[in-house]
Amino acid sequence: MSFTIATTIDEAVAAMAAGARPIAGGTDLVVSARHGKLPLPEDLVAIDRLIELSEIRPGSGGCQIGALVTHARLMMDPLLVQSYTALADAAALVGSPSTRNIGTLGGNVMNASPAMDTGAPLLVLGASAELASPGAMRSVPLDELWTGPGSTSAAEGELLVGLNLPSPSGRSGSAYVRLEYRRAMEIAVVGAAAGVTLAEGGTLASVSLALSAVAPTILALDGTEALAGLSPADAAAKAAVLASEQAAPISDLRASDGYRRHCVGVMAKRAVDAACRRAAGESISVPVNRALGIGAV
Ligand SMILES: Cc1cc2nc3c(=O)[nH]c(=O)nc-3n(C[C@H](O)[C@H](O)[C@H](O)COP(=O)(O)OP(=O)(O)OC[C@H]3O[C@@H](n4cnc5c(N)ncnc54)[C@H](O)[C@@H]3O)c2cc1C
Repeated sequence: MSFTIATTIDEAVAAMAAGARPIAGGTDLVVSARHGKLPLPEDLVAIDRLIELSEIRPGSGGCQIGALVTHARLMMDPLLVQSYTALADAAALVGSPSTRNIGTLGGNVMNASPAMDTGAPLLVLGASAELASPGAMRSVPLDELWTGPGSTSAAEGELLVGLNLPSPSGRSGSAYVRLEYRRAMEIAVVGAAAGVTLAEGGTLASVSLALSAVAPTILALDGTEALAGLSPADAAAKAAVLASEQAAPISDLRASDGYRRHCVGVMAKRAVDAACRRAAGESISVPVNRALGIGAV
């Protein structure tokens, strides 16, 4: 058993190459171990002191969000709230203030839960993951990263350095909405993210949609090009149909598959509606769930 504290990316990837698992906030890794779900890995490397992974860097082609940026920062950052709003919506729904203050974007992405809140927003915003290994760096589109519940296409020794998000184009907006039974310490029963661009005249130029908690991984919807040219109301209605058709949910203690299939359509409709309103210049505060009174009080 070993515990290493990395102070550089090179030290972190060297420890990982020798078999250590990275630990960031520990809100998945340690909490799962305490609950007896998974044993704590024998060898750990703490990455929380890697300051260079804690930054949000705007650039000409978009922005890079470091893997260690916490949910509390994501939900407050002015650039994200303005231009990548679905991600801010999602971060604002994670756990409690203490979970959001310590839990990181990188941990959420690499934990690869199909119910993770940031995954669907990152997909509709066109994000890619920057992965580092000794002497190498590669970029992976997010739709190629998640391979199943808790698993990714990253090699054992690869460290997620950050997420790259392209600049939004034209009159665009995004939103993430989830079904929740209570307002804190809740994991999405189902969730939906929408990213839209409006054409002149207010019809839809493009739409992308992704769903949480209805498939083994975050699900990017096919067929969204059929929504181009529609009014926001018609696009929202059609999004509900696509979402319910393509969802492949399970039944568990929290919801039946049929209920999830129906509700994810409702969430997709609301996400498209909120994204279109934001794209048209309306201010809907973060998170949409609270602004629209979705979820139990
Ligand atoms: C009470 C509670 C409520 C929660 N509520 C929600 C919720 O509402 N929505 C939600 O989505 N999640 C929720 N979570 C889950 C968790 O908080 C998030 O997934 C969080 O973002 C994990 O980040 P972390 O830094 O704590 O990850 P860690 O626990 O440190 O790591 C998680 C996994 O990712 C790996 N990892 C971490 N960073 C990297 C990296 N940079 N490169 C490669 N691998 C890495 C670790 O090895 C581990 O396998 C909740 C957790 C708790 C305890």
